[in-house]
Amino acid sequence: MTNWFESADSLVLPAKHLVDGGWVDALGDEIFSVVAPRDGSVLGQIALGNERDVDRAVATARAAFEDRRWSGLRPAQRGAVLRRWAELIQENAADLALTISLEMGKPVREALGVELRAVANCIRWYGEIADKRPDESPAAGDDVVALITREPAGVVAAVVPWNFPLTMTAWKLGPSLVAGNSVVLKPAEQTPYSALKLAELALQAGLPDGVLNVVPGRGHIVGKALGLHHDVDIVTFTGSPEVGRAFLRYSGESNGKRVWPELGGKSASIILPDADLEKAARMTAWGSFYNQGEMCSASSRMVVHRDVVDEVLEHARAQAREMAPADPLDQDAPLGSLVSEAHLERVLGHVRNAVADGAEIVEGSTERAVVDAHPGGSYVAPTILTGVTPGMRIEQQEVFGPVLSVITVDSEEEAIRVANGTEYGLAASVWTRDLGAAHRVSRAVKAGIVWVNCFEEGDMSVPFGGVKGSGFGRDKSAHAIDKFTDLKTTWIEL
Ligand code: NAD
Repeated sequence: MTNWFESADSLVLPAKHLVDGGWVDALGDEIFSVVAPRDGSVLGQIALGNERDVDRAVATARAAFEDRRWSGLRPAQRGAVLRRWAELIQENAADLALTISLEMGKPVREALGVELRAVANCIRWYGEIADKRPDESPAAGDDVVALITREPAGVVAAVVPWNFPLTMTAWKLGPSLVAGNSVVLKPAEQTPYSALKLAELALQAGLPDGVLNVVPGRGHIVGKALGLHHDVDIVTFTGSPEVGRAFLRYSGESNGKRVWPELGGKSASIILPDADLEKAARMTAWGSFYNQGEMCSASSRMVVHRDVVDEVLEHARAQAREMAPADPLDQDAPLGSLVSEAHLERVLGHVRNAVADGAEIVEGSTERAVVDAHPGGSYVAPTILTGVTPGMRIEQQEVFGPVLSVITVDSEEEAIRVANGTEYGLAASVWTRDLGAAHRVSRAVKAGIVWVNCFEEGDMSVPFGGVKGSGFGRDKSAHAIDKFTDLKTTWIEL
């Protein structure tokens, strides 16, 4: 078994940006220290990009697109490159997983077993579907050939968060690249190294120079410059609602580029009295705490029928106690550290607000968790709040930490009202053995994804994304490819 502590000591981190197929010095001069939140130490330093870096990367991507070095390949050829890339991701999975774990604090075991597996699957899946999507030729009459073809849009800017840094990146890169676009990727400030390493493997797999460029930098500088750039055709974004709306504004203020926002969530888990209560309670709690709760689809609101709330709560509390945070490099850590001290303060602030508003803490605390060896680490214990009522701040606001709110209801109708009562609409789950109730509730819940008697399930064939304030982009599945293509009509008179 890998000794992650030893591997961490010898981990090599890239120091430059990746543009036009090679490592280049940043044009910006701000040096940023990437902090490992497991112990507060400096993991490494990297020069951040600025507007000139964005101009350089976009011009490179544009040149690569216009000379058709990638878009002009046959779809099967593009697919072969992606499949080779997926193989290299698998071969380098341990190094990438360790890099992620050090950057943002998730348990390295989860980074390897869940995130890297998802990343390789995603890239392979788009590689496999590359040449399996026919265009259309409607029957327009004997004297006409009508064609509807899909063409790559051009230059795509991908701006991604740190919570599943490479999964989110793969969800953007797979479909945009397989369609033939060129890409400029901006990773989150906290996770530049894993993004650069992933992109380097794409080059090794045969992706032509200039097709994928990575510009680490601050959101309000590099992200904004991409959003405002007149030569970017599409922005694909995952992150907070505020920044998602900023991208829509940038688009309106520049060239009206397409923006695909995947934003936050406040997902409800509706537990009806006839459900398998232990499974429902444990999965809901797990879904609220997993990845330190830094998950857009986290089941952060448990909406449970009054008749069964006591039993459900006992199971949820047992689950919380099994998920105490530990050093993410510890092979058995169920939870790691939050991404940063600043984020820890935000999360604990939400818990304190909840208590001030009348909620009661039955597991967890308003204070940080201490993991013995690392007093400088950003750890928060799984926290369960009862007495939460609709409209409270903790019931409405995304926490993005391991905090579960329990809301008691008296009927299926009330559960649906509560589930739909926030600005978000990303995901929901329903727990019942009654097929009719399962269908009724899933139809009535306003969300992009509804899980019935499970949580966070799915594969690459189904889309991921939300409605309402959770945005309107869809990652994964063949539908995601359409986001990065234009339909062209060709009408041929014979
Ligand atoms: P964030 O919005 O702060 O940052 C996301 C990205 O946007 C980062 O790369 C950041 O540098 C950049 N950015 C920040 N400010 C910017 C600005 N003014 N202009 C342009 N770019 C800017 O989000 P985060 O804290 O990194 O991630 C957490 C959020 O992401 C949560 O709200 C979470 O729900 C959401 N998320 C959604 C999904 C989904 O699929 N719907 C998945 C994961 C995370």
